[in-house]
Amino acid sequence: MIPYGRQDISEADIEAVVAALRSDFLTQGPRVPAFEQALAARCGAAHAVAVSNATAALHITCLALGVGPGDLVWTSPVTFLASANCALYCGAEVDFVDVDPHSWNLCPRRLGERLEQAQRAGRLPKVVIPVHLGGEPCAMDEIHGLARRYGFKVVEDASHAIGGHYRGDPVGSCRRSDAVVFSFHPVKLVTSGEGGAVLVDDAEVARRLRLLRSHGMERDPARLEQPAAGGWAYEQQVLGFNYRLTDLQAALGTSQLERLEAFLHKREALARRYDELLAGLPLRSQRREAHSRSGLHLYIVRLDDTARHASVFEQLRGAGIGVNLHYIPVYLQPYYRRLGFRPGHCPEAERYHASAITLPLYPGLSAADQDHVVRSLAAALK
Ligand SMILES: *Cc1c(COP(=O)(O)O)cnc(C)c1O
Repeated sequence: MIPYGRQDISEADIEAVVAALRSDFLTQGPRVPAFEQALAARCGAAHAVAVSNATAALHITCLALGVGPGDLVWTSPVTFLASANCALYCGAEVDFVDVDPHSWNLCPRRLGERLEQAQRAGRLPKVVIPVHLGGEPCAMDEIHGLARRYGFKVVEDASHAIGGHYRGDPVGSCRRSDAVVFSFHPVKLVTSGEGGAVLVDDAEVARRLRLLRSHGMERDPARLEQPAAGGWAYEQQVLGFNYRLTDLQAALGTSQLERLEAFLHKREALARRYDELLAGLPLRSQRREAHSRSGLHLYIVRLDDTARHASVFEQLRGAGIGVNLHYIPVYLQPYYRRLGFRPGHCPEAERYHASAITLPLYPGLSAADQDHVVRSLAAALK
């Protein structure tokens, strides 16, 4: 089976992890801050906070931005479950803003309309979480403008987009948002096994994220709330979690980050090849804006003939191609239906769901395998 995505591990990656294993620290030693510094430098943000996975990153980012019961968080329906669940973890409510018909990202025009209605109803979101689907950056200028006008915070779910650019700025720069979240799950662009990170410019938010990552525990004598009875003093100041990344994972993450540019070049070459080979078939690919650089985590196509969606999908699976669907609109999940969401809430997302197929794309995908994917897709569409 040709998978839709897979990691690429080099000898240097392996050696980096082995060196960590032979060192004094297995968890939160010097390799975690080194990884954080490399991430912040790569993205041009002031601070990076590494955590156990992107789901944890989204959770503590919402908390650090003050999301709690009574608050509202909005995100895209075309995303992984975690972009919405993070709000529910905080006791907040979640809602979904429909996607754009070409980028399949959160639609800024629709967001503007929904904000106008929400303002009239007196129920504006506290945080909006745009998701860079497949690595293609959202319309951040527009979203940032709306954030200023309506006073909400923006958290970019950039799980697909590390290495991407938006209007000259690296994704992760926090130029148009309050925080940016990355995932280092093995199918994503660079991996640490499991892992995630939050990039922020605000030092106070970074400090809160670090507290929340490790049990809400403060050890800095200058920051204790009560007088210290001795040098052992530590204080729990907020309700935190164990969301730490290990030094083993940070070693792999740092080594992989050095390979990001090479990975992106391979993904770009393969995506251009798909663009050419698929031209003329009754389908369309995700629009990639000229002012952006996509991280190209996913190569998604939409079939013109939705009636054949399931059969084309099955035929490709039958041909040994691990196609997938990213994603079922989150609110159509049974759990979300029990919260009151109904089909029809985001019509564009539902049209997307009825026609989208993710084709294999990863740095190690061979031209022969890619040809097999394209031939099988063409045959299935005959
Ligand atoms: C993978 C993913 C996540 C969750 O990442 P983990 O590191 O597996 O927790 C969140 N959002 C999106 C869009 C993702 O693709």
